[in-house]
Amino acid sequence: MTVLEVKQLKKSFGSIHAVKDISFSVQAGEVFTIIGPNGAGKTTMLEMIEGLVSPDQGSIHFGGLTWEKDADDIKMKIGVQPQSSAMFDLLTPEENLNLFATFYKKAQPTEEILKLVNLTEHRKNQVKKLSGGQRQRLAIGLAMISNPEIIFLDEPTTGLDPQARRNIWDIILQLKQLGKTTILTTHYMEEAEKLSDRVCIVDQGKIVTLETPAALIERLTKEREVRLSFLDGEFAAEEADLFIKKIPSVTTTERNGAALKIWTTKPEDTLYELFGFTKDKNYHVEQVSIHEMSLEDVFIAFTGKEWRD
Ligand code: ATP
Repeated sequence: MTVLEVKQLKKSFGSIHAVKDISFSVQAGEVFTIIGPNGAGKTTMLEMIEGLVSPDQGSIHFGGLTWEKDADDIKMKIGVQPQSSAMFDLLTPEENLNLFATFYKKAQPTEEILKLVNLTEHRKNQVKKLSGGQRQRLAIGLAMISNPEIIFLDEPTTGLDPQARRNIWDIILQLKQLGKTTILTTHYMEEAEKLSDRVCIVDQGKIVTLETPAALIERLTKEREVRLSFLDGEFAAEEADLFIKKIPSVTTTERNGAALKIWTTKPEDTLYELFGFTKDKNYHVEQVSIHEMSLEDVFIAFTGKEWRD
């Protein structure tokens, strides 16, 4: 069942086209992860979906509900992890949860939320004395107070140590078991891989790929990067590039002067065909090498940017 459908979403700030043309749908019970380099448009996209920013164009449907007509109903359906600054530092987790509960007609019992986010033991400690991981767990608890169907978690593990990060993963997996839908952003590829049903890579306001982690991993295990350069110069590389693009096992190519990078699922076959071509043309290649693909390379191949971790 589709719980969220976004179609042709666009948003500009003056001359900056933050979100250019985004369409996707999210299924009930999914962990849907959005990743992308800084400034890719993730926050703008989420803020439009969360009803905080109005789109210039496009539509957002939660089932049959839209922000224009059904804002109150949508607010009951979604839970947004608040920024740390929205919590009351001098109050305890229990008091923060009780306070947030008063914003809703029907809220979940505080004890249940404390248990879910593993803060029962710290229920009476002031928030300012909690660790970064405990504060983030409280933020997830606050998003859960209205018992929403869809939870938005914006970089819930950024800056946390590996153990604290894993504790958050456990909560996200528990939410999945409860049948909740989670929309997550993260800068950690491992997290995207472990938790997500689907990963959406966004760059420059557009979706560059939307796949299951298994499909990404298949790329990882199957795809290789072949590098070579032509002694005969740029023209030979350009011609070879045009030739190689037509081979079905070749997914992407990148040419820089006389150097060529080829991403292929069948590196030996690709090289065999390429050498057939260079022999016919009497071109000469050097520095031929085959590299293993990493998930980071997949990201770089799609976005042209370094992965930040
Ligand atoms: P990060 O990972 O750094 O949080 P992001 O993917 O969330 O980045 P956005 O914050 O959505 O990206 O920003 C997309 C682009 O829109 C950026 O160029 C940003 O500077 C610009 N932008 C975002 N909000 C505004 C605003 N209110 N006014 C002007 N420009 C904005």
